[in-house]
Amino acid sequence: MSRTERECKSCGYVFDTYFMATMDYCKRCVPSVIELAKAIKLFPDIETLHTENERYETALERLARLGNEPELGNSIGNVIVQEALKGGE
Ligand SMILES: [Zn+2]
Repeated sequence: MSRTERECKSCGYVFDTYFMATMDYCKRCVPSVIELAKAIKLFPDIETLHTENERYETALERLARLGNEPELGNSIGNVIVQEALKGGE
């Protein structure tokens, strides 16, 4: 391998960095690597989202009944939360 040659970290193809914008990936892999990085950023860990969602839902259920437990409340605040919970179904 010459000084300007690199092995692609994704596919193992040996390419010449003299012609490349990146030092780690060949021309074929660069677009997919960029797309993958974007996708990972756009879709955070699904398990974390699920846990957060459950936490918010538990808090909203309590607020929906606040002041009239264990039945649903009828204050403006209770109703706002009840409507928010309905929207999530
Ligand atoms: Zn490659």
